[in-house]
Amino acid sequence: MKAPDFTLTAGPTPASERTLNALGSQIVYHLDPSFIETFRRTTEKAAAFFHTKNDMLLLQGEGILGLEGAARSLTRPGMHVLNLVQGIYGKGMGQWLESYGAVLHEIEVAYNDAVDPAEVDAYLTAHPEIELVTIVHSETPSGTITDCSKIGPIAHKHGALTLVDALSSIGGVEFEPDEWQLDVCVSGGQKCLGGPVGVTMVSVSPAAWERMLSNDSAPRYSYISLIDWKVSWLENGTFPFTPSVTDVVGLEAALDAMLDEGIEHSIARHARAASVTRAGIRAMGLKLWPTSDAISGNPITAVRVPDGILHTDLSAHIRERYSVMLSTGQSAGNLIHIGHMGPTATGMHQIVALAALGAGLTDLGATVDLGAGIEAAMRVLGATAS
Ligand SMILES: *Cc1c(COP(=O)(O)O)cnc(C)c1O
Repeated sequence: MKAPDFTLTAGPTPASERTLNALGSQIVYHLDPSFIETFRRTTEKAAAFFHTKNDMLLLQGEGILGLEGAARSLTRPGMHVLNLVQGIYGKGMGQWLESYGAVLHEIEVAYNDAVDPAEVDAYLTAHPEIELVTIVHSETPSGTITDCSKIGPIAHKHGALTLVDALSSIGGVEFEPDEWQLDVCVSGGQKCLGGPVGVTMVSVSPAAWERMLSNDSAPRYSYISLIDWKVSWLENGTFPFTPSVTDVVGLEAALDAMLDEGIEHSIARHARAASVTRAGIRAMGLKLWPTSDAISGNPITAVRVPDGILHTDLSAHIRERYSVMLSTGQSAGNLIHIGHMGPTATGMHQIVALAALGAGLTDLGATVDLGAGIEAAMRVLGATAS
């Protein structure tokens, strides 16, 4: 089966030509001094992308590896953890934490809403035994943002560390981990960066290292160990095992593209793509999934699928008839996503997505004003052209 003409999903997202070219370069022996240099440069660029002075690790696997490694390293049996849930990634983190023996506390809101930082403050006041707060910054399937700028300082005030899933946020929305006092942050290549899927970037604060190193339950001598990477790479400049050479080279190219563009510019580009998309959805007469624009993320627009139509049928129909791949709500709800991450967070990509979505819904019997949607989206696009 042929790949679709357009991939506009919750990620993985298409990569730039620069990244694709780098992914085609020759495979180098991992202990060759040139690769060690590449690895060091890429680590520095990842730290620049995160805007952090904390230690940066490049873990050799998809984002889940970084999240699982970080969560396990910070958790021990009997430890009290507050997990914030506004979607399926938050929910999944809670299941991990419980499986490691943590005493799980959760603040859970509807999957189209956002956790209120004041509620986190009140909860931590009532539960001083909590040592860690886990947060999903951009809850991708829900299309919502959690306010880490407020929750980070609140957690610290109460003596708790923070673990942040920033997979789909960095490069698409503002992210200031040092200013926001975030301890461990995890991101990946395949979302707003438009890079390869196989590497996770993890930043670790000194306080988080201290916690991990004093934790007997933290994985050591393991593929998911963060401590192994600290000892091998940060302290001795070598690797605990062979890194995914090709993915690292691809990641560097994607980071180069991002840093050359400028992170602020990239965020503005994602914000513009989101406002074009939202204008189109509203004018078509459809409903956005998040309860307000204030909690909606720039990387993705989640749209309610009209009653009587199933999100998975809609996505399959659009893929088949129009060769456009849009992602579904998974278990977050009967919703469909227009992803605008990485190189596709530019004008006409969103128009393609809106056209395919509007036509697909019409085909399946919904009442949609496709023309008004495209016109409204084009007007926002034109008005914000630079
Ligand atoms: C993409 C993503 C991940 C990575 O997980 P996969 O399910 O393997 O794609 C983790 N967290 C968030 C919020 C993501 O968007």
